[in-house]
Amino acid sequence: MDNYIKFEFLSLPINISIARSAAACFAAGADPTLETIADVRTAVSEAVTNAVVHAYPDSVGRVVMECKLNGGVLAVTVSDDGCGIADVEQAMQPFFTTGNEDERTGMGFAVMNAFMDMLEVKSSVGKGTVVTMKKLLSAEDQSENG
Ligand code: ATP
Ligand code: MG
Repeated sequence: MDNYIKFEFLSLPINISIARSAAACFAAGADPTLETIADVRTAVSEAVTNAVVHAYPDSVGRVVMECKLNGGVLAVTVSDDGCGIADVEQAMQPFFTTGNEDERTGMGFAVMNAFMDMLEVKSSVGKGTVVTMKKLLSAEDQSENG
């Protein structure tokens, strides 16, 4: 069954685990494999962590996560109204980080790319960032005559 949730929260570290669990529960509704649920949890965790760690360097801001299920395909959007990314292509390169090198490895976008089927990042400096990821959860709903 197609489904949709919208989840708005403050950019606090505790909300990373809440958001990734919500996304994993949402995805479980499409009856995917446990491995697929784990992939979604990992990718969503990276996207939400980025909004919490990077978007609002000196303040606490708003993060919105939307999950849509349509014909067995999950689409997750994580948006913030934070500082934005000046060069998205560069930011998406493996090992590129503007963060503290002891804590950050620059692998967040690479992980999202690896664990999901589609990744799109749109960002505007001073306005914020929108990360959209898609993954096929189950082929069931796609074949009308199967
Ligand atoms: P890791 O995810 O491995 O801990 P990281 O967060 O630095 O390290 P990525 O997740 O790949 O690595 O992100 C790369 C860079 O993109 C970040 O260092 C940051 O400069 C920028 N970035 C990512 N997401 C956002 C965001 N929501 N707002 C502002 N900048 C961001
Ligand atoms: Mg990251």
